[in-house]
Amino acid sequence: MPVFKFTVSSQKKISLATLMTTLVSLSVVLTVTILIAASYQSKKRTLIDTTLTLNYSSAVKMGQTIDSLFKSMRSSLLYSAEVLSKVKTMDTADVTAQLELMRHSSNYFNSLVLVNENGIVQNASPITAGTIGNPIVAEEAKAALAAKKPYLSKPYITTKSKRLILFMSQPIFDGNGNYRGFIGGTIYLNEKNILNMIFDSNPTDKWGSYFYIVASDGRLLFHRDKKRIGEDISANTVVHKLIAGQSGSERMVNLHGEEMLAGYVKVRENGWGVAVVSPTDFVNEQLKQHINTMLLYMLPPFLVVALLAIILARKLAEPFTELANCVSKVGTANIELPEKRLDWNREASLLTEAICYALVEIKRQTDQLTLDASTDPLTGLANRRTLETIMSKRIVEEAPFSLIVMDIDRFKTINDTFGHPVGDAVLRHFATLLASTVRPGDTCCRFGGEEFIALIPHATIEETYRIAERIRLELENSENPIGRTITVSAGIAHFPEHAGTVQELIHMADQALYRAKETGRNRTVIADKENMENVMPSGER
Ligand code: GH3
Ligand code: MG
Ligand code: MG
Repeated sequence: MPVFKFTVSSQKKISLATLMTTLVSLSVVLTVTILIAASYQSKKRTLIDTTLTLNYSSAVKMGQTIDSLFKSMRSSLLYSAEVLSKVKTMDTADVTAQLELMRHSSNYFNSLVLVNENGIVQNASPITAGTIGNPIVAEEAKAALAAKKPYLSKPYITTKSKRLILFMSQPIFDGNGNYRGFIGGTIYLNEKNILNMIFDSNPTDKWGSYFYIVASDGRLLFHRDKKRIGEDISANTVVHKLIAGQSGSERMVNLHGEEMLAGYVKVRENGWGVAVVSPTDFVNEQLKQHINTMLLYMLPPFLVVALLAIILARKLAEPFTELANCVSKVGTANIELPEKRLDWNREASLLTEAICYALVEIKRQTDQLTLDASTDPLTGLANRRTLETIMSKRIVEEAPFSLIVMDIDRFKTINDTFGHPVGDAVLRHFATLLASTVRPGDTCCRFGGEEFIALIPHATIEETYRIAERIRLELENSENPIGRTITVSAGIAHFPEHAGTVQELIHMADQALYRAKETGRNRTVIADKENMENVMPSGER
């Protein structure tokens, strides 16, 4: 017969629960990652676009403010120029008072100066020593004088006071249209002036956005870092565009190498430029916060899903593990059928049913095989193997017992006379009679052919003899299949009285039986130790 060998691979297997948990976790992590990545990208674009738009609109508003401011400053100078055009001499105390009034009432200019057509300073506010009556020195003032037109300088440093200033002038013409000089106003860029009075009230916002104003040559007129005022930043991309007269918004890198989101506007009236800038880092910071918030919202449901997946995976895998355990016990221990539950898990339910059916069938067949292997098919009594097993066990346990070996007398004649089937019926008849005559704890066995053995535990030889006689008489007096008297001869051996091994005991009982046959049949003979033929017959016994 071929021998089937089933080997289980030693390779590490992944459990269903682990597999499912991993799958669910992976898909959740992947989904969260994709969501966050997509959200990151779109949020970044939105933030950048919004910041650029906001900065641009701020720059537009500030440009409008500067424009209005500049127009007011210009009209203030214009008004004074008109008033002064009617004044005969400009160096009077009245004119000084008017200049003082103008300077203090509007705060537009840090200083005012009145210059005649020859370039001689006529009056000023505040009056500084050594100026009145002297000619103008600054190139810008000279240019303004020569231009005879409204004039706005670029930032420059005065020779005397070394101040960084901006100079704005308006020509004065008398009633006949003769040029009489100009009235000029200065803004001290590094000191308290109209620009920082207005714009310093706009503090830098919490995201680090700020703005600056540049003159038409790219020099700073206003910056949150006052030290930088007057600095030429025309190399800055945005300032470059402002100088070229452009307005707009864009991502750019400033002179310090920082990436910025800038909105910039050119002020038409005076050629200045306004730029509102936010560091791109601010957007990154915002994004980081956004991602953190997203994670915070996503983490709890993710954990719940992962936990549910683990529980579900375990629940799903449970019946399969149970079934595997159950099936692995087949043939070793008592098989406990798996519970038919988990109706919600269709596959597990179907498999449980199929396995239950198979296990029941296996058990039925195993029981049948066990029965077939231990009993005699014709009579249903125990067979020779069973008897010898019981005997060995008792011998090992040293539990006393007796054997009655019985052989139907002249059975061959019965067979010959009535036929083999009737012979079989006689064998079954005797088996039934034997089983009903002994006690339930006794073992009846068909040893072979028409030879039977009864094993009587804990019986003395005398008791055994009485039992054997009862059987013999029962048969003799029974109604049997052939309608004639059937008799049986019996031989008795006792453990441990007569022998200590299975084979010796059977042999001795057989010898006694042989003597019963010899001495006329239909009788019971007890083994006799002294008269025993010590030689065991060769062959199967
Ligand atoms: P003795 O009194 O000396 O025992 O004579 P016997 O005829 O009973 O003994 P023998 O051993 O000569 O014959 C036994 C016969 O039993 C021979 C055999 O054909 C028959 N036999 C053995 N097994 C079966 C069986 O299962 N069914 C039937 N019908 N006959 C069987
Ligand atoms: Mg025989
Ligand atoms: Mg016989």
